[in-house]
Amino acid sequence: MTELFYFDDYVKELEEIVNTDSGSADLEGCLQMTEHFQNRFCQEGFQTTSNREEGKNPYVEARYFGREGKDIDVLLMGHMDTVFPKGTASQRPFRIEGDRAFGPGVADMKSGALLALYLALAVEKAELPLNLCVALNSDEESGSADSSAWLKGLGSQSVYCFNLEPGRSTGAFVKQRKGVFEYKVSFKGKAAHAGVAPEKGASAVVEMAGWIDELTKLSDMQAGTTLNPGVVRGGTVSNVVAEEAEMLIDLRYANESERIRVEQRFDEMAANPRIQGVKCTWQRGEGFPPMNPNERTESLMELFRRKAAELGQETPEFVSTGGGSDANSLAEFPLSIMDACGPVGGNYHSDAEYMEVPSVEKRFSLLFEVIKEIARGE
Ligand SMILES: [Zn+2]
Repeated sequence: MTELFYFDDYVKELEEIVNTDSGSADLEGCLQMTEHFQNRFCQEGFQTTSNREEGKNPYVEARYFGREGKDIDVLLMGHMDTVFPKGTASQRPFRIEGDRAFGPGVADMKSGALLALYLALAVEKAELPLNLCVALNSDEESGSADSSAWLKGLGSQSVYCFNLEPGRSTGAFVKQRKGVFEYKVSFKGKAAHAGVAPEKGASAVVEMAGWIDELTKLSDMQAGTTLNPGVVRGGTVSNVVAEEAEMLIDLRYANESERIRVEQRFDEMAANPRIQGVKCTWQRGEGFPPMNPNERTESLMELFRRKAAELGQETPEFVSTGGGSDANSLAEFPLSIMDACGPVGGNYHSDAEYMEVPSVEKRFSLLFEVIKEIARGE
């Protein structure tokens, strides 16, 4: 095992990439990261392709073919962008204190992107008889608009996907992510003087209040369904019956049946306003479906547990989360996805972000053993 993982090289390279700013909006920085990874893969003889279209966030793909055929047995996925603007790395560069490493994106997820590279190199060196693909984008933190079609293309050809987002601070993996969509509801009523002729008005704001009340009833904690009216606006001045109102709702849910239930209720409420004369319309906006474990994910978790025991590691935990990742966009395909496979960390998206250095080698060993078993046709 140890001869396949070069810890000192890894840390040196991690320092280099953490000290290269690559916020999603910093296309130059994202390109630098893409070049870094593409060069490394090329040097090692991987087939690589990248997208460097002007004005778009670049991405890079590296392939290893250990058997006949083109389809992908294991897809290692990650992102090279961070949420930090240019200049952050020089303000607080990579550093290690005790067992923890610090720096912009050190956990989310430069250490994970680098781990994907090191895993791929080990797979190649061990000449494992499987097909592996590493896919790294640079717009995950801004919604993956330039990369999601490409990622879906890879997901549709893959059997297993390991997303190298950071392991939870408890060390847990993520087996399930909720679906999330944003809804916009618009209310159009009738303005009237609130003092002189209130009966002539139809208040868009009062109708909206009815919806807000109803959203609480629509939530179902047990089913994992929550609705949050995060933004509401409406009306102009206090002495006019409000003609217009609008709200933005965040829906989180675990099963498609729940999204359908919620949308049916939206239809009913829009068709039957409480305030006569108010017209309601709703639209589903940005979002993605839930990522749920399938049958093969269950045996994958068993494989993780078995390999962890053989390596003398603690029994891995697999948790569900309400937060989304690029893995959600692959959930429509029959592949099995395990997320949060990267080194363990915490305080993402903040100055206090850290990565647990000893977890790097542990994650490497565990994932490598799991991949070896998949290559054996587990
Ligand atoms: Zn991330």
